[in-house]
Amino acid sequence: MEDGDSKAILELFIDPQNSKVICASAQKEFIDFIFSLLKLPLGTVIKLFSPQSKIGSLGKLYQSVKNLDQVNFVTNRAKSSLLSPNVFISDLATPLLLGTAAIKEPTYYLCNSCKSKITTVRNILCPICKLEMTEKVDFVVPSASHSSGSTSTEDGGESTKGFVREGYYFTITDDLVVTPPCGMSIRKIFENYGIVDGIELKKVFVGIKEGLAILEASLESSTVLTDVFCSAPTKKRKRIMISQ
Ligand SMILES: [Zn+2]
Repeated sequence: MEDGDSKAILELFIDPQNSKVICASAQKEFIDFIFSLLKLPLGTVIKLFSPQSKIGSLGKLYQSVKNLDQVNFVTNRAKSSLLSPNVFISDLATPLLLGTAAIKEPTYYLCNSCKSKITTVRNILCPICKLEMTEKVDFVVPSASHSSGSTSTEDGGESTKGFVREGYYFTITDDLVVTPPCGMSIRKIFENYGIVDGIELKKVFVGIKEGLAILEASLESSTVLTDVFCSAPTKKRKRIMISQ
């Protein structure tokens, strides 16, 4: 684990006979991470992997945009917005595990004149006033007490960071089916697989390296946890690198 690397704990229930993860148990940190994968733009996903990594044809699509001369695009920002789409912390709520390479805090600029238009690009013209928008303002993440449909007794002052509530254990299958704390029990999953005894419990820490491996495996595999955490030679996945 690298210094400063965010980490989450994942408890794996493994069938040692077949070196296969049957299911896993995790709390908020890990569940927030796998849920946040759904919010990543495809351009960000491709950028996170080395050019050699195969994700269908999207790698070639990404590379072709990179190779196209700037003159082909309507603005200077158009090309960079495809190659490095903005992923805001306020979108993900937690930047856990994928590092900061693709994630940044947005800066917002307000029209100094009408105060009714806002942008993330400084100095562009307000569509109403035709004046440059330069007044820097901060984004405020809504608190639980202001969330739509919630009441103070429902949220109990609980943090709204991330996606799922704290303090519960969720069950995750090898193909990333997530069931709530009161959903299918781990024992029931074992029974569905015809396995009752001989399960091996393994606790792993999930950081940036493991998070990227999970993201990559989830794009092409239905045995994600086995691919990433079971080191049988036939299951060992190629290593991935974070591209710059
Ligand atoms: Zn204005």
